[in-house]
Amino acid sequence: MHESNTFAPGTTGINLFGVVRGAQISEAARKGNSSITGYLEVLDKHDIEDVPIFSAYATPGATVAADTFDQLWQMLVEDLGNAGSLDGLLIVPHGAGVSENHPDMDGWWLTELRRIVGPELPIIGVLDPHSNLTSAMLDATTALLPYKMNPHLDARERGIKAAELMVRTLNGEINIVQKFCAPPLIINIEKQHSESPPVSLIYDKCSEAEKIPGVLDACVLLGFQYADVPEWNSGILVTTDGSEELAEETAISLGKNLWDAREDFVPSLFTPEQAVADAKNSTGPVCLLDMGDNIGGGGSGEGTWLLHVLAKENDLKTFFCVYDPEAVQQATAAGVGARVELELGGKTIPERDGQPFHFSGEVKGTPPEQFHDPKMRHGGKTIFEPGQSVLLENERGNLSILVTSKRLSPNSPVMIPNAGLDPTSFDVIVAKGVNAPLGAFDEICPTFIKVGTRGVTSANLEHFTYLHRRQPLFPFERDFEFEYTVI
Ligand SMILES: [Zn+2]
Repeated sequence: MHESNTFAPGTTGINLFGVVRGAQISEAARKGNSSITGYLEVLDKHDIEDVPIFSAYATPGATVAADTFDQLWQMLVEDLGNAGSLDGLLIVPHGAGVSENHPDMDGWWLTELRRIVGPELPIIGVLDPHSNLTSAMLDATTALLPYKMNPHLDARERGIKAAELMVRTLNGEINIVQKFCAPPLIINIEKQHSESPPVSLIYDKCSEAEKIPGVLDACVLLGFQYADVPEWNSGILVTTDGSEELAEETAISLGKNLWDAREDFVPSLFTPEQAVADAKNSTGPVCLLDMGDNIGGGGSGEGTWLLHVLAKENDLKTFFCVYDPEAVQQATAAGVGARVELELGGKTIPERDGQPFHFSGEVKGTPPEQFHDPKMRHGGKTIFEPGQSVLLENERGNLSILVTSKRLSPNSPVMIPNAGLDPTSFDVIVAKGVNAPLGAFDEICPTFIKVGTRGVTSANLEHFTYLHRRQPLFPFERDFEFEYTVI
């Protein structure tokens, strides 16, 4: 599972993947909230044996290196070969994976998987809605169910539904058909919160469509705008029992709703200065969402644009987190209680992420390298790893900076108490994300402001050069005709 940002420099190598093989997959899932947790719940209920095979996950980032992908694939094939006779395969692809050797990485491995197990074996899975869904993925699988929530707080629930569809398929009760309609438009990430208009209105229409007899599932695919691939799509995926016609009709009808709302999916972009001014007039703690450095979308974690602006605000008490392994080493060497001067963040590509921030203050602590959050968070994750890290506080005592040596998606509020701080004591909390942190900080922050910062996950599409996208595609092109189709 990987969400690959093809605009991020370099590649994602094997050292960044957590690989889990065999029984340990189920052991971990039974303690978590993931789609696999949902699968196991249903299999247990029906007294079906689970045969955990292979799992590999890396934090979203640069394109997967070719040798890394080949190595992972070889391990998967080996483990699949040792799994014995199977009745069905429950899978969890991300759907926005790109490797150097396979631009449609998920389409490639799913096609190979289908070739190995043959045309009859049901392959059903949960998909991330940030998938750029392709015909290869659809052709290779029996059914794919995207999460319906962004933040993805329904990972387990969707796992339960997918496994139930598997059981009904194995019992010969249903014969699944899936069709995808992707009108030529993009839902910008800034407009992708599933509980807010405009996109919530489309989700509501999908729920309505699910009441039509024969429709098993209808769901929005949001798409992933940081992968420059031909199948960069937003669309509607519909699953029916036996009827291609019903799947096609329903997908197109919902696709028309999507197209009609296209102008509403163009983002609102506020500068850091505007966002901070707005935060001062809002009920706190205010969560500022650093869209340009969205770690869950492949952001570097080094972004400093907001930090430079907030550091000038002496009357605001601010929490900020930045990825900088070098600064962690320097501060750790100085020791807790030491006064330090450090350059933080912005070191790799300052023109994109902001200049390094000159920090002067005290090393307050060295928080634990890993923490646990039992609540349902984005994607069902329960274990979070800042890695070796340090907590810094400026001389005025109004700016706390957590510096990590691993890129930490801010998808659990526990990151703040884990650093020994009370989240409610802050006026401003900066989260390097767009929608996922809403499912973490909503219990602390009454106000969220999405900030149009620069970075490798900027919400401003004009910051990127797309070489492979389809044309025409709204909002790049605005005046064109097209026919509704499905794959
Ligand atoms: Zn996602």
